[in-house]
Amino acid sequence: MSTSTSPVQVHRHGTVAVITIDHPPVNALSQAVRQGLLAAVRKLDADSSVTALVITGVEGRFIAGADIREMNQPPGEPLLPDVVAAIDACTKPLIAAIGGPALGAGLEIALACDARLGGPAAQLGLTEIRLGLIPGAGGTQRLPRLVGVARAVSLIGEGRVLKAPEAHDLGLLDEVVTGDLLVAALERAPHVAKRRVSELPVPRGDAAAEALAFSRARKAAKSVPAIEAAIRVISAAHEGDFASGLAQERAAFLALRGSSEARALRHLFFAEREAGKVPGMAEAVARHVAMVAVIGAGTMGAGIAVALADAGLPVMLVERDDTAASAGLSRVRDLYERQVKSGRISEADVAERLGRILPTSDWSCLAAADLIVEAAFEDMAVKADIFRRLDAVAKSGAVLATNTSYLDLDAIAAATCRPQDVVGLHFFAPAHVMKLLEVVRGRATAPEVIATALTLARRAGKQPVVAGNCDGFIGNRIYAAYRRHAEYLVEDGAAPDAVDAALEAYGFAMGIFTVSDMSGLDIAFAMRKRRAATRDSRERYVAIPDRLCELQRLGRKTNAGWYAYDAAGRKSVDPLVTQLIAAARAEKGIVPRTFTALEIQNRLLAVMANEGAKALAEGVALRASDIDVVFVNGYGFPRTKGGPMWAADQMGLPRVLAEMKAAQEAGGSGSEPAPLLVELARTGRSFADWH
Ligand code: NAD
Repeated sequence: MSTSTSPVQVHRHGTVAVITIDHPPVNALSQAVRQGLLAAVRKLDADSSVTALVITGVEGRFIAGADIREMNQPPGEPLLPDVVAAIDACTKPLIAAIGGPALGAGLEIALACDARLGGPAAQLGLTEIRLGLIPGAGGTQRLPRLVGVARAVSLIGEGRVLKAPEAHDLGLLDEVVTGDLLVAALERAPHVAKRRVSELPVPRGDAAAEALAFSRARKAAKSVPAIEAAIRVISAAHEGDFASGLAQERAAFLALRGSSEARALRHLFFAEREAGKVPGMAEAVARHVAMVAVIGAGTMGAGIAVALADAGLPVMLVERDDTAASAGLSRVRDLYERQVKSGRISEADVAERLGRILPTSDWSCLAAADLIVEAAFEDMAVKADIFRRLDAVAKSGAVLATNTSYLDLDAIAAATCRPQDVVGLHFFAPAHVMKLLEVVRGRATAPEVIATALTLARRAGKQPVVAGNCDGFIGNRIYAAYRRHAEYLVEDGAAPDAVDAALEAYGFAMGIFTVSDMSGLDIAFAMRKRRAATRDSRERYVAIPDRLCELQRLGRKTNAGWYAYDAAGRKSVDPLVTQLIAAARAEKGIVPRTFTALEIQNRLLAVMANEGAKALAEGVALRASDIDVVFVNGYGFPRTKGGPMWAADQMGLPRVLAEMKAAQEAGGSGSEPAPLLVELARTGRSFADWH
């Protein structure tokens, strides 16, 4: 039981036995932990010299959840329900002493105990839904017995994590202990009586609150199917006895565990952790960043300043002149005011964060910055000029970053005498909300500069992905191919709203034409004009968006784009656009054909994966899963589909290749199947196992 190699140790304090879990880094409930825990509980229950048991974790930990790696393997004995059942059956009082995260399976263990004490850093939540699962060891049956059905539905449905005081208010924690948690648990132990949660009645709740919780959860279940199962199984707690509820829960859990959604979410769980790791960079030490600056306080600059100030950093927000600087500050205030209105932060938070942002037009203050992010106009001449000036003023060793979306990072770096310090930090709009941060590595970028960017990303709560330098890096490069092919579909016969509907049915929050209208059609128009001279004449060109722009239909901001918008912002199909599309088809002699939603989905998925394969082969993306992380965190790709490369693997690469050949016929030059896709399809391999 308590051999020195076991992650579960038992120590006696008089008649009380303390079971301590020490399984770094987070005390996941791996097989060895389950074995140790089960053996300890059984042995101590049978030991007549023991009167009570305490379960806890070392160093402020408890149990952060199941071991997700084990979920892709055949289950190893003992299963979690067996461990929980042994705790529930124990004849002596058990106390969970929770110093840190008790999440998922960890909370299920705690719920099977007779009492729960929490330290100030305790976090409690049944978070399985984030992995496309429901609790599988009694969580859905015990939680409603403690907090009622309505609360259980919303807590499990949202996978919400409660801090200690809230968990105490809801009755999940019996007490929050500010002093030494173990000392408190040992003091309470002789007085704790058996109180099995499984034997408590489910409290009769307020019918209106229940109806509301159920309807909210049902809405969310549209994108996360596991929520539907959670609702069904929690309702069972209401209706039947504990044992039958438990059986229903287990059956639903097992069905979900092997589902495509849960597998996709597990893939992303690991992909997101892997994305910040760059091979060969283990030695690189991040530079110290205490003061940052943002150049340009427009849409992006203001959002970036907020993101960095929210991370606790002092930010100098540098503009061309004082008027522009104060306009920038108003933009920042606006962003904060919206967050106050939505209840996300308080006025006091705003005052504190605003206090860290200094708007200025004085470039000399840039000498104090450890890291500078340029977010001025997307124009090489403007950026080169800024980097030349930065080179003269920035301190030695300062990281010089650009938020460019498409421009050549090496050309920007060449404007300085220190290209090793230049890196891309590609934030997504709105920069203070979107999680994705592409860290773009130039030819000369030093490893410590990448390490600094990755550290900054984590500090700001962003999901970093390292990308190589190319037109559009990972995200915008693939997005451009995707958009081009969406336009081919339209010119060939699909209506824009049919394309959008197909994408939304696939799980995207918004279809691509709705997104284009939201971001504004003029940006891409300007880019197309800039590139007109160098465009491959054999590549098919759809002029419909140019026509829309020429008619000043720039999207939502002009109340017209691919769609029409009324005064309340509601969109509708505009007959004028339908006519314009028909005219464009007629001009090229295209006889429109129909596309089913599935054809649209498969075509666009194949195009994304194909461009992804090119980015992979060029080393622009380090791994296929990095592309998935980019698309689910920056482009609204549905998480439950795992990202475009994962989804392509699931579809089968020979099918993706066949689809890509059809796409090539539609697109011509520039739409060739990627050699890597051809190779993998031929050899029966997948993107996931390509390195
Ligand atoms: P914007 O036009 O809203 O803002 C640019 C700001 O830079 C303006 O306030 C301008 O006064 C300022 N500026 C211009 N030249 C300057 C100079 N020499 N010194 C100081 N300030 C200067 O543009 P934006 O949409 O915020 O885009 C900024 C950058 O971010 C571009 O490179 C763009 O490609 C990139 N980007 C934009 C988005 C987006 O969705 N808008 C997303 C990702 C990246």
